[in-house]
Amino acid sequence: MSNKIIIAIDGFSSCGKSTLAKALAAKLEYVFIDTGAMYRAIALYFLRNHISFQDETAIVKALNNIKLHFEYNSNTLKSDMFLNGENVELLIREMQVSSKVSEVAAIAAVRDFAVAQQQAMGQQKGIVMDGRDIGTVVFPNAELKIFVTAQPEIRANRRYLELQATDPSITMEAVAENLQHRDHIDSTREHSPLKQAEDALVLDNSNIDRAAQFEIAFNWAKESIDKSKSL
Ligand code: C5P
Repeated sequence: MSNKIIIAIDGFSSCGKSTLAKALAAKLEYVFIDTGAMYRAIALYFLRNHISFQDETAIVKALNNIKLHFEYNSNTLKSDMFLNGENVELLIREMQVSSKVSEVAAIAAVRDFAVAQQQAMGQQKGIVMDGRDIGTVVFPNAELKIFVTAQPEIRANRRYLELQATDPSITMEAVAENLQHRDHIDSTREHSPLKQAEDALVLDNSNIDRAAQFEIAFNWAKESIDKSKSL
């Protein structure tokens, strides 16, 4: 029997979920899935094709034309997001997508489309998935659920430094505004709002570095793996 588990990592925007998920997956030799990238790719498709976020028929039709897949990139040591065969990894991080993605991710048909694919990816376990609803909706029975938090100004600053590297024109104000906007939509939407699962372990990384955050989470993962072995 496999001792692999599912690790669900949720939390607000830009609090370091993906960094942590990626590091855990590498150490455990698990698959890492960035579900935010899937919503971003869908948003990019909607923007490019001028799909109205209110037009249910057009949305369902558009989703039928969307094929998403991840492909490992040996240069960045992470998986890139592909939309209908095109590598959109860089495009989906741009502000034009960031500013609309939460509206797209709040649409029920979009969530059903993405969640079904995410659940299929976890069938074999051995997966670390990060997002907003992984521990609550996608894998409510995940063996380990981590809810990552950090103070808003610290999150904004981290994201600003990250984005500045590729877009020097970006301002701190725009970044902070975008985070607030997404957090608000994500936590107040009707379908699968962002909330901490009751059985999630909380990791506040405001005042600790990546290595310390990793140590805490890796110890939790080892405990959960041991526990699942003894069942
Ligand atoms: O994780 P990231 O910030 O890239 O996600 C982009 C957006 O996708 C989030 O702001 C949120 O609106 C949406 N999302 C979601 N559910 C997930 C992952 C992301 O609604 N599981």
